Amino acid sequence: MRVSKMLTHTLKEDPQEAEVMSHKLMIRAGMLRRVSSGIYNYLPLGWKVIRKVMDIIREEMNAIEGQELLMPAMNPRELWEETGRWEEMGDNLFRLKDRWGRDYCLGMTHEEVITDIARKEIQSYKDLPIMLYQIQTKFRDEPRPRAGVMRGREFIMKDAYSFHDSDESLDEKYRDNYRAYWRIFARCGMETVPVKADPGPIGGTDNHEFMVLSPVGEDTVFLCECGNGANKEMAYFKDEEKDPPVRSKESSREKIHTPGVSTIEKLCKSLKISADRFMKAIVYIADGKPIMAIVRGDRDINQVKLRRGLGVKTLAMANDDEILKFTGGHLGFSGPVGMDPSVVVADPEIKYMVDTICGANEKDYHFRNVNPGTDFTVGKYIQIRDAVEGDKCPECGKVLDAKRSIELGHIFKLGRKYSNDMKATFLDDKSERKTFIMGCYGIGVTRIVAAVIETHNDKNGIIWPISIAPYECLVMPVMYNDDEQRGISEEIYKKLKEKGIDVAYDDRDSRPGFKFKDADLIGYPLRVIVGKKAIKDGLVELKLRDEKEAQMVKIEEVVDMIIDIIKVEKTKLMSFSDRFEECPC
Ligand code: ATP
Ligand code: MG
Repeated sequence: MRVSKMLTHTLKEDPQEAEVMSHKLMIRAGMLRRVSSGIYNYLPLGWKVIRKVMDIIREEMNAIEGQELLMPAMNPRELWEETGRWEEMGDNLFRLKDRWGRDYCLGMTHEEVITDIARKEIQSYKDLPIMLYQIQTKFRDEPRPRAGVMRGREFIMKDAYSFHDSDESLDEKYRDNYRAYWRIFARCGMETVPVKADPGPIGGTDNHEFMVLSPVGEDTVFLCECGNGANKEMAYFKDEEKDPPVRSKESSREKIHTPGVSTIEKLCKSLKISADRFMKAIVYIADGKPIMAIVRGDRDINQVKLRRGLGVKTLAMANDDEILKFTGGHLGFSGPVGMDPSVVVADPEIKYMVDTICGANEKDYHFRNVNPGTDFTVGKYIQIRDAVEGDKCPECGKVLDAKRSIELGHIFKLGRKYSNDMKATFLDDKSERKTFIMGCYGIGVTRIVAAVIETHNDKNGIIWPISIAPYECLVMPVMYNDDEQRGISEEIYKKLKEKGIDVAYDDRDSRPGFKFKDADLIGYPLRVIVGKKAIKDGLVELKLRDEKEAQMVKIEEVVDMIIDIIKVEKTKLMSFSDRFEECPC
């Protein structure tokens, strides 16, 4: 491709709309343009990268017997009604009406449509297992679109769905996908950590998120040297075991007037005591019944752990009316004193609190000098707080490492959730009707591109892994209007093209400094510079984007060298997969 003909418009300055590096660089390098909030044009350079990521994904999905299909982005309401998700997805689902007033949505995921395909097309156990996948635009009305394609409202996803007649068959496909995911990300230049994630109300057994560690990530993962890793929602840790606390004999419970002091922050300010001296009591409605959950004032309640610990399907914070009915008090003044122990759940840390402060279940009042066992009884101690820096691994006891991360993929054993709801069945070997067992496997294609740039850049621009760079190589004469330099450049460009190298040729008659800057910004992994030495000594400069020094190479050898380097670089990427560890489940 001749750069003079490319639709590239690089920018010197960081665009105002962008905060994170990948977003800035995608705009500056002319890959991406915003159309509306969370909606983008992928310009040719950006689309080329996306296409290369898709190719890698296709190769790896096909290698594990995935069959590609394409489902419609526009889905009829009726299908989503069958699983209850027309309601459940709330404002995240883009909805529209046709001219007859019929309801549709824009698919944010495709379990409903694929299950409809399965119940119509797959009749017999002989057709199982089967895995179908697509690479397609998804729509989600995200509350906070962010960081360019990292969190868009319209984005490209690879979503795969598998159908099985036994749990063992699902387990096997899950392991295949786990391995394929590792390979896909490695081939895109990314080292990922698979972490345990919460299956959510869907239930099911296993699911893993593939995370890339990055300070700009919205997720937090807790990792241990021993290989144990989980996202924040599922990060369990070893509960501290201490000696029973010693409390001062003379202290006894006392009610204090705290008008309008309904948050921990306000309490800290008003009583001049740190948050770890308080108990935070929150009322939830769990499967329709109220319960009170208690953690230390400086901790956050983890709703996933609470839901799992209680063994309930639904969990939501209670509103003021519900709190009033349950405790007799109001929001911000709840506490366990006087509550029936059967409705009180506390984090084990509460056991060790002495002379603590909590709500008095009465508006504008708190208690001080409250002690567990004496002033209230906890029905159930379960770990319900978020993990924090310094917490220890439940497996080996070493301190967990908390890291920010970006979720690139998510694999999930769905079980029979969708096939039950949609009555998707097949005939087994005894001609009996059985419900499909399902798995699903998603990858954020456009998010991969952002994550790669986020982890592969320097002050001059992008440093692409060769596998997904928009072009593998750039050929550039220093002075385009020098006939000899231009002639040699054209020749090298032509030869590289003939050898199947994805090569760009900077044939613009611009200042060399400008062209060098552009090359670094766009991040061509290999660069051949044809200058005066080419004419004098028959040598051209060959430089890798991520190396400081260039080497001088004979003109007649440069093409073969480039071919070799590309091969070596691609092998290096694959060697990431040597560190692969099999799926733990
Ligand atoms: P998140 O927690 O980041 O919102 P999710 O868990 O809702 O993602 P999934 O339903 O698991 O996402 O979708 C599969 C993959 O699609 C994710 O792992 C992620 O890489 C990608 N993805 C999800 N939402 C977006 C988005 N708004 N923009 C870009 N990619 C996304
Ligand atoms: Mg996910």
